[in-house]
Amino acid sequence: MTPPPRPRPGIGHVSLVGAGPGDPGLLTLRGAEALARAEVVVFDHLANERLLDLAPAGALRVRAGKSVGHCTLSQDQINATLVDHAEAGKRVVRLKGGDPLVFGRGSEEGAYLRERGIPFEIVPGVTSGIGATAYAGIPLTSRGVASAVAFVTGHQAPKSSQAVNAASRLDWSALAKFPGTLVFYMGVTHLADITGALVREGKPAGTPAAIVESGTTPAQRVVAGTLGTIAETAKDRGVRPPALLVVGEVVAQREALAWFESRPLFGRRIVVTRPREEAERSSAALEALGAEVLIAPTVEILPPEDHGPLDDELDRIGEYDWLVFTSANGVRGFFDRLWDRGGDLRALGGVRLAAIGPSTAEALARYRLRADLIPPSFHSESLAESLAAVAAGSRILMARADRGRTVLQDVLGKSAEVRQVAVYRNADVEGLPPALRSRIEEGGVDWITLSSPAIVARLHALLSPEGRRRVGVEIKLATISPITTAAATAVGWDVAVEAPVATWDGLVEALVAHVATSRDGS
Ligand code: SAH
Repeated sequence: MTPPPRPRPGIGHVSLVGAGPGDPGLLTLRGAEALARAEVVVFDHLANERLLDLAPAGALRVRAGKSVGHCTLSQDQINATLVDHAEAGKRVVRLKGGDPLVFGRGSEEGAYLRERGIPFEIVPGVTSGIGATAYAGIPLTSRGVASAVAFVTGHQAPKSSQAVNAASRLDWSALAKFPGTLVFYMGVTHLADITGALVREGKPAGTPAAIVESGTTPAQRVVAGTLGTIAETAKDRGVRPPALLVVGEVVAQREALAWFESRPLFGRRIVVTRPREEAERSSAALEALGAEVLIAPTVEILPPEDHGPLDDELDRIGEYDWLVFTSANGVRGFFDRLWDRGGDLRALGGVRLAAIGPSTAEALARYRLRADLIPPSFHSESLAESLAAVAAGSRILMARADRGRTVLQDVLGKSAEVRQVAVYRNADVEGLPPALRSRIEEGGVDWITLSSPAIVARLHALLSPEGRRRVGVEIKLATISPITTAAATAVGWDVAVEAPVATWDGLVEALVAHVATSRDGS
């Protein structure tokens, strides 16, 4: 083996990273580390674009391919791009679908880099043959059923008129006799040639076979049949790349093992309209249940335009008996400002804390603070009533958004000394992401979740008349509370599901229950 040339001073580095088959969670920790340090990311169409979020915001992102078989850059251009950036001293990540060395041309890229004296590493990924089959519930080996597995390219299948072994670099008679599972990559356009060649070489036409399309993604689809029928079935069902063909007795075990598509919200496309800070966490709950989540914040959370009033209250916080929070954002806004001004939790002294519901209480708990009061129902009326019972004659400070309902002040103001202060600002976003707007208008969405009257109003304003018409009809609505439902009804939208308790978990549970019982499953 020739030793690698000594790195030149100032030279960068290339990581050839396997992105896994689609689900971003299947990236390795080493891959995530490489991305976190990247200055340039050159990515494939098969790599999930959400992984790009792991790279620093300032990293240059270069798209190498835009769809199957259509490369934006040729292989030569990709090689040149890697070399150019590495020679300029950059840390480059070459992000490739699945594993870089399984039908991925990673070996060519590595060899090219070696020739030019550029240091590189190879970070393996979950190849689709392993990942997509696991998500489809197909074990590649199984005791007594399959003791071997072969990964095969589907590119080199002979046409039915051709002598089998002359037209292909693969030995099809050996493949037909292979004592185990066959997994074909890149075979969708040659399915009939592949299955035909195997049958002609003696593999029984009744052997179970399946196609896994877009495995590990919300669009995953599995079409099952036999070696004799699968090509025709796939054609009828319109199977499209990327897809794998799996041939072998193990395919029959899918009935017992399929788990990914059996999750309660699998295949449902759900829009989350909450501010970005909350949307990420809220989406995770839906995604864990199998939903495809589209994040479209309609309002955003900003610091107050003028910090003066909040700062004044922070200075005299010890004079209050109660500090009341009506959202997790309020908690963050309040304590972050306290900290930024050089104070800390000791400023609170003996002031008691009220939270409108569990998420707000949880936000307090993150600062190691316990809520003294959480009302039985998680809305302003209930909070006002509970406080009125214990806080008559007290001094109460409400930390809240710059806009919103004034119930608390109205009710409590009669029996206590109530002041309110804006700790954050609810600002309307300028527009919805264009791709999402068209999906809503073209029926590419099943559900929209709504978690406040302000969000309802803003969403209504941002949609076209066609989009508005679909909402509540083809696109079902799930709301977090009666107040949000009332706001939706007021703009003419029917609400399919309302959370029985006003929390995000409550909303998700109600949505799952609705999907489970609705006959069409939509
Ligand atoms: N290096 C990749 C393979 C690249 S070749 C890997 O290790 O997975 C491209 C082929 O991979 C596609 O034609 C398809 O057969 C397969 N493939 C990639 N992603 C897939 C997915 N999510 N589901 C099913 N097949 C996939």
